[in-house]
Amino acid sequence: MRSDWHRQALDAAVRTIDTHAEALSELDAAIGDGDHGINMKRGFRKIAEASGELASLPPGPALHKAGMTLVMSVGGASGPLYGSLLMAMGKAAGEAQALDCRLASNLVAAGVAAVKSRGKSDAGAKTMLDVLVPVETALRQAVESDLAPAEAARCAREAAERGLEATRPMLATKGRASFLGERSIGHLDPGAMSSYLLVKALCELVGARP
Ligand code: ADP
Ligand code: MG
Repeated sequence: MRSDWHRQALDAAVRTIDTHAEALSELDAAIGDGDHGINMKRGFRKIAEASGELASLPPGPALHKAGMTLVMSVGGASGPLYGSLLMAMGKAAGEAQALDCRLASNLVAAGVAAVKSRGKSDAGAKTMLDVLVPVETALRQAVESDLAPAEAARCAREAAERGLEATRPMLATKGRASFLGERSIGHLDPGAMSSYLLVKALCELVGARP
């Protein structure tokens, strides 16, 4: 992708969160406090407001700053978690300009490690990590198999979809949903849904503009 890939990616993220904010809050109303869409929308709107400044920065610093924006503007658990994800991705991007599969894989690996550490969590606890960890694995395998970008994006999107669906029968052991115990079973996790939607939007971008 072109050297302004981070702008395209952040724009796509803002759009998809805007579009699906209500659905995200509805999922959170079932097993949390009903604010996930509101939290995400508030955070990503702040990123949109800063888009002029972010556009003037190279990819790494722009992603890092976008992450800080989420940490500062979102009160819920998702703000610091998605904020840590973006900040770690920005740090891992360093001076890189162009995005290829290897860089995407490295950025996601760094971001996922940051979410695990910040959330003291891992896949299997019915959280966003149930989407992000399989996406990390899919991208790593795509690099190992030397897949073309569009093919790697398809694998990542499919891994995200399977990861999201896998949260439905899970018992939540982290975050607010864990307070529900067994009653968390049978619902999709809202954070897994927002991660799936973000991954899907970003993968579509790769498919549309190789
Ligand atoms: P809050 O739970 O504070 O209301 P949100 O509703 O915005 O915050 O976000 C809830 C989502 O955050 C959950 O659906 C889950 O995916 C994610 N989450 C919560 N705690 C953790 C954690 N410890 N590790 C990873 N993700 C988490
Ligand atoms: Mg909530």
